[in-house]
Amino acid sequence: MGRKRKGVDMKTPLEPYRVKVVEPIRLVDRQRREELIREAGFNVFNLRAEDIFIDLLTDSGTSAMSMHQWAGLMEGDESYAGCRNFYHLQEAVEEVMGFPFVLPTHQGRAAENVFFTTLLKEGDVVPNNIHFDTTRANVEYLKAVALDCVVDEAKDTQLEHPFKGNMDPETLKAAIRQYGSERIPVVLMTITNNSGGGQPVSLANIREISRICRENGIPFFFDAARFAENAYFIKMREKGCEHLSISEIVREMFSYADGCLMSAKKDALVNIGGFIALRDEALYHRLQNLLILREGFPTYGGLAGRDLEAIARGLREVLDLSYLQFRIEQTAYLGQLLDQAGIPVVKPFGGHAVYVDAKQFLPHIPQSQFPGQALTVALYREASVRVVEIGSLMFAARDPQTGEMHYPDLELVRFAIPRRVYTASQLEYVARAVIEIGEKREKLRGLRLVYEPPFLRHFTARLEEV
Ligand SMILES: *Cc1c(COP(=O)(O)O)cnc(C)c1O
Repeated sequence: MGRKRKGVDMKTPLEPYRVKVVEPIRLVDRQRREELIREAGFNVFNLRAEDIFIDLLTDSGTSAMSMHQWAGLMEGDESYAGCRNFYHLQEAVEEVMGFPFVLPTHQGRAAENVFFTTLLKEGDVVPNNIHFDTTRANVEYLKAVALDCVVDEAKDTQLEHPFKGNMDPETLKAAIRQYGSERIPVVLMTITNNSGGGQPVSLANIREISRICRENGIPFFFDAARFAENAYFIKMREKGCEHLSISEIVREMFSYADGCLMSAKKDALVNIGGFIALRDEALYHRLQNLLILREGFPTYGGLAGRDLEAIARGLREVLDLSYLQFRIEQTAYLGQLLDQAGIPVVKPFGGHAVYVDAKQFLPHIPQSQFPGQALTVALYREASVRVVEIGSLMFAARDPQTGEMHYPDLELVRFAIPRRVYTASQLEYVARAVIEIGEKREKLRGLRLVYEPPFLRHFTARLEEV
């Protein structure tokens, strides 16, 4: 499959679908882009999506649905209670994941809110490989501790290791000894590990962490947003799993867990939705109370019947091997194009995104002048491509006591790939844009803040060029 490129043996990933409906995108000219990025205060969150050519801001809720999912929307049953689509969702969750009880929510963070508010009290501890930011925020909002227990290999951006999402069993055991299992109402595991660069967790690690949880009587749940991408990595990389089907691997992964929290905006291939799924009937009834208060009646949970149908269908579709192969290869393809051109990228490539190391790419811009944001701005200026900074604009903070600035270790720019949306040639265009910026990188200028909100600064900050 694929074709040989000039002197480079690189496989172009081959799309396993054809186009039935098109959404036009337009490339606004350079002069207009210059005006727009200034009006946006050099913050790409302030741009209108219509003024962007290729949008790699996030893979969340940006998937293209299949004809089967679109057809399912017409079968939406919008009854307040007991709509047929809820039962379809329940059947799909049971078939794919093996959990008998499902509580739909309007998205992943709502599932987190209902789950943690029901389970946690002040001073409790929730271990995870790495908490995703909404997960951490929901735990900390309840004055509990969000404890990251990822393996050390995850911290080295250049180390090639097949399962950098794994949780360190010794760190987990030490946490159980330190806090006692009474203070740990649940252990969470994020598959794939989003905040760690979309790195997978092995089946062996899932098995071991599950065993430790069982021995200590602690429920074990997945943050399962990218469960199918994780299963694909297991099939490709874990010894003894190469002959298993994706659905067999998924069933085995979930067989070690007591339940999961799901953002359906990722691997359920829909634009909105989430759920909690679990085995424990008593806990299911406890969760229902808050669900009704916050989200809605338990058979719709903040969604329309048609949304539930799209999720039910997406959960089965995402197990398709040719889809997953294309998905993971497409991400790696963008990564390889950049890597072969000498652009510093985080390795190995994760499932849903490629990360450029902006500190290495723009060594002349100090962290105090936001090198990641400078690259993000340049990509819009040069090519009308939108990516997101995950570095000092997002994380740098002033010490409240000393007034000193603390900068994050990593200064990354994330290129997230929406599912089934862009073609290989569109990603080649993105790679060319980065490479061209690289050729004149010393001309890029740093930025300084002119407006800064009190929290979640990166979403609404405004900047100017130094
Ligand atoms: C996206 C995401 C969430 C939150 O889900 P939303 O649907 O965006 O609210 C939680 N955990 C992980 C790992 C995610 O990727």
